[in-house]
Amino acid sequence: MSATLTIDWSRCKGHGVCLAAFGERLTPDRWGYPQGIPTAGASLDDKEITAARTAVTTCPAAALGLRIE
Ligand code: SF4
Repeated sequence: MSATLTIDWSRCKGHGVCLAAFGERLTPDRWGYPQGIPTAGASLDDKEITAARTAVTTCPAAALGLRIE
């Protein structure tokens, strides 16, 4: 199983909720937008999936997605 965190940058408003939920992986840039999610998505290990799910469900802009294959 592999998991990939994706972001729709057209929806992201820089609220920063995801940074609190998944701070192990995401850090804010100088404007408060999350760094660490490449255009193709960020591959996650098993330990990171729970925090990623929280980030996805709490994002007020529904900008994050979690693809599990
Ligand atoms: S919580 Fe959502 S809208 Fe806010 S910075 Fe994170 S991805 Fe963007």
